[in-house]
Amino acid sequence: MTGLLTEADGSPVAVENPEALSPVLLVCEHASRHLPEKMGSLGLSEDALKSHIAWDPGALAVSQLLVESLDAALIYQRFSRLVYDCNRPPEAEAAMPPVSEIFEIPGNAGISAAERMARTQALYVPFTNTLSDFITTRKAAGRPPVLITMHTFTPVYHGKQRDVEIGILHDEDSRLADAMLAAAGKTKRYAVRRNEPYGPADGVTHTLIQHGLKNGLLNVMIEIRNDLVSNEIGQKVMVDYLTGILGESLSALSQ
Ligand SMILES: [Zn+2]
Repeated sequence: MTGLLTEADGSPVAVENPEALSPVLLVCEHASRHLPEKMGSLGLSEDALKSHIAWDPGALAVSQLLVESLDAALIYQRFSRLVYDCNRPPEAEAAMPPVSEIFEIPGNAGISAAERMARTQALYVPFTNTLSDFITTRKAAGRPPVLITMHTFTPVYHGKQRDVEIGILHDEDSRLADAMLAAAGKTKRYAVRRNEPYGPADGVTHTLIQHGLKNGLLNVMIEIRNDLVSNEIGQKVMVDYLTGILGESLSALSQ
């Protein structure tokens, strides 16, 4: 293997349950806080490397439980968003951010065009190609996927507590988001809001646009406050809830 990743690092992309019976394709761009060997620590402390700036804590665990409950497929990035944030296009500074919330990331300061290219080739290109190939194959088989990107967010951001518990995010196509918000409104179990704590203006709908909108797929981004899914019990409760509102939404949309 040449470039950024070593043999020991392994593949940048993982695919689970590709033969899933349901149309749901879960995507987790921020699944891992793992750094490729050659990246060292990016100049960050152990605490920073474990924090939400490196990954979305709980997002992969919830996604893997949804794979089972929905019989869904899952595609996720195996390396930290600090090296390359796969929910951003290569030209965005946020793809390799020099600052994340309150943390400066020394290893991302003033990186060269060659370094940017190496990271893009190593992490983003295989990720986005795996997604494209999966969607193309399913569409050709007459089974267009329903694209759901799975994220978590920190309860306290820039010192401010966030009240929203689940964000249902969308870009120009709000069909699935509308149906999920309608389903969520019936139970009032969690504080569920549209395009919070982030929205399209924050640049977080890159995967939805690139793979959902451009293919005409039903699509949504789910943001869960990470304190709700910090342990197995919280994850299971959340997965039961999401399985319910997703099931209701998808059957409403297929009528
Ligand atoms: Zn995320």
